[in-house]
Amino acid sequence: MHADYQLHGDVALITLNNPPVNGLGYATRVAIMGALSRALADTAVQAIVITGAGKAFCGGADIREFDTPAALQEPNLHTVIAALEQSTKPVLAAIHGTVMGGGLELALACHYRIAAPGTQVAMPEVKLGLLPGAGGTQRLPRVLGVEAALNMIVSGQAVASERLAALPGQSLFQRLSGSADSLLDEALAFARDVAAARPLPLVRALPCSHPQGEAYFQFVRNMLRPSTHNLPAPLQCVDAVQAATGPDFDAGLATERRIFERLMVTPQSRALRHLFVAERAASKIADVPPGTALRPVASVAIIGAGTMGSGIAMNFLNAGIPVQLLELQPEALERGVATMRRNYEAQIAKGKLKPEALAQRMALLRTTLHYDDVAQADLVIEAVFEDMDVKAAVFGELDRVMKTGAILASNTSTLDVNRIAARTQRPQDVVGLHFFSPAHVMQLLEVVRGDKTAPDVLATVMALAKKIRKTAVVSGVCDGFIGNRMVEQYLRQAGFLLDEGCSPQQVDKAMEAFGMAMGPFRMSDLAGNDIGWAIRKRRAIESPGMRYSPTADAVCEVGRFGQKTGAGWYDYQPGKRDAIPSAGVAAAIDACRSAMGITPRKIGAQEIVQRLVFALVNEAAHILEEGIAMRAGDIDIVYLYGYGFPAFRGGPMRYADELGLFSVAQAMQRFASNPHADPAFWQPAPLLSRLAASGKTFN
Ligand code: NAD
Repeated sequence: MHADYQLHGDVALITLNNPPVNGLGYATRVAIMGALSRALADTAVQAIVITGAGKAFCGGADIREFDTPAALQEPNLHTVIAALEQSTKPVLAAIHGTVMGGGLELALACHYRIAAPGTQVAMPEVKLGLLPGAGGTQRLPRVLGVEAALNMIVSGQAVASERLAALPGQSLFQRLSGSADSLLDEALAFARDVAAARPLPLVRALPCSHPQGEAYFQFVRNMLRPSTHNLPAPLQCVDAVQAATGPDFDAGLATERRIFERLMVTPQSRALRHLFVAERAASKIADVPPGTALRPVASVAIIGAGTMGSGIAMNFLNAGIPVQLLELQPEALERGVATMRRNYEAQIAKGKLKPEALAQRMALLRTTLHYDDVAQADLVIEAVFEDMDVKAAVFGELDRVMKTGAILASNTSTLDVNRIAARTQRPQDVVGLHFFSPAHVMQLLEVVRGDKTAPDVLATVMALAKKIRKTAVVSGVCDGFIGNRMVEQYLRQAGFLLDEGCSPQQVDKAMEAFGMAMGPFRMSDLAGNDIGWAIRKRRAIESPGMRYSPTADAVCEVGRFGQKTGAGWYDYQPGKRDAIPSAGVAAAIDACRSAMGITPRKIGAQEIVQRLVFALVNEAAHILEEGIAMRAGDIDIVYLYGYGFPAFRGGPMRYADELGLFSVAQAMQRFASNPHADPAFWQPAPLLSRLAASGKTFN
């Protein structure tokens, strides 16, 4: 059953029971309606308490139901809410843990609400490009006041129950319980107190206005506009809340409904909902069942205290997991520890970390120069130079010293994890953990599954990723894994755009207007242009036919490696990150064009965006077909959290789906016929061709 029914004397207790967060899917709604009818029909019942089993009152609607008929199937959420509101016996919501979206709307339809302190209260729909569509925009302002309610609805952020309960004049919570443990007893007592109260108080009957009226709502719109130009939902939330200040509650509800239905079909909301579902799906691995026993990870060792090793270490310290850092030389250890300290201090200066946390975290760190010291760690992550011989030697040592069952991970960005694993007698314990730079900031973690990686090792690192607040995506073994293999094609295409007539700033501007956090040239300057240079040198040997723009090599040959050398595709002033267009780079591009006999042409923003995004999409189609990525949604998550792809476009695969794969394939054909195009580049991946021909999508 999705809701339990119990009698406590003359009070009926309905307990939502749909783990993990009591989502309001169809079966739960049916169960609530059944329990409510039973309570109403039982003449011995004087009052009704609704609560949630487990760690939450209710997390809201079931997002997976959203685009299916089940969402509207009766009883839909509106029907349940109306039934609660119209109950002839008092209904009281007893709220703990989390109350979100539809769950909060359900609570607002009850006559009374009591919350445990520390309950997280939110209307998160805006994060999915929507608004609360079951009366939330009409009822929340009536109990919290227009400003507090609008803040919650527009930000989607959770607020603690005790903070809301302290707002002057609020009627969201009539009572706060003494503790989470006493909530139920206090709720039952409260229900008895109000059992005879009539008329029953209804949120819809409360007044709703703002002293400044229209001027206030205009002010909020002006504040929101600059940061929401690609997102329709926040401004429409304002419209809906303004409708709550009108004379007729039901007219306000109708306005909310109209806006909700409009937002549901926007590409932005579809994209955000796709990412929400994709992110949850990414942690599931078909051949690793959910109940797989995990290996305990209570301590971590990291080999190499460079850029990545020190950043990776911070993630574990932040999660309270002790770390040992191993290096070749004491100076390297000192440098690594100093970097970590500096990063923490920067976070404290920005107010993101409490000052006392620095000492607490650093107290969990030990350093060593000897492998025998790390032998008892449950997980060891290698982050030494990107060189197979160096890594092979490190893994040989690890194999020698590490205790049985320890997980041996490599942070390699390009090397073959199977070859690394083969250097040990325990390839089943070896896995790739590809953190992104800066490792203490970037949310993405590619988990690289070797041919022999054991299922429990995978399950353990996926769970650990959650603990250190990373979003993990599984990748098979290939050059560059999912993200960097795709970005190589993206950067190749960006180079061709320069050859044909673009400037780096023009390309970056087009991609940033599309929504990328950074255009390809600013991104390369940040990551270091020498990385791509090394890859191109390798490709020249491994795949001699592969064409590249010569400009990137020309820029590297004069030492313009990016921000770290003070010059790259752009010029940089000492200590600053502002990218200044470079006359030297412009001249280098001109020289390359002349050498290739190309007369530059004007290329529009749409062509720039499509060529770069479709370069990603075509490579991704290969990755998907080869089984390197398990799902198209995983690729979208990699691009969202690893490469700054705009969430409102849903990731490259979702974006291609939205355009239609037939149009994508046609555009690729057009690009192949451009005067200076590399036709091989635009050879569509077989999967893309098949899907395009059959009118299907990736996701
Ligand atoms: P780095 O040069 O900053 O650090 C490497 C560190 O390893 C140095 O401090 C060095 O002293 C130490 N080291 C070298 N050999 C060692 C050994 N045998 N034993 C112990 N320590 C040793 O390099 P990095 O940028 O931190 O990269 C490390 C790894 O992370 C590489 O495999 C790289 O491909 C990968 N990676 C880097 C990035 C990035 O953006 N920098 C991103 C993802 C992955």
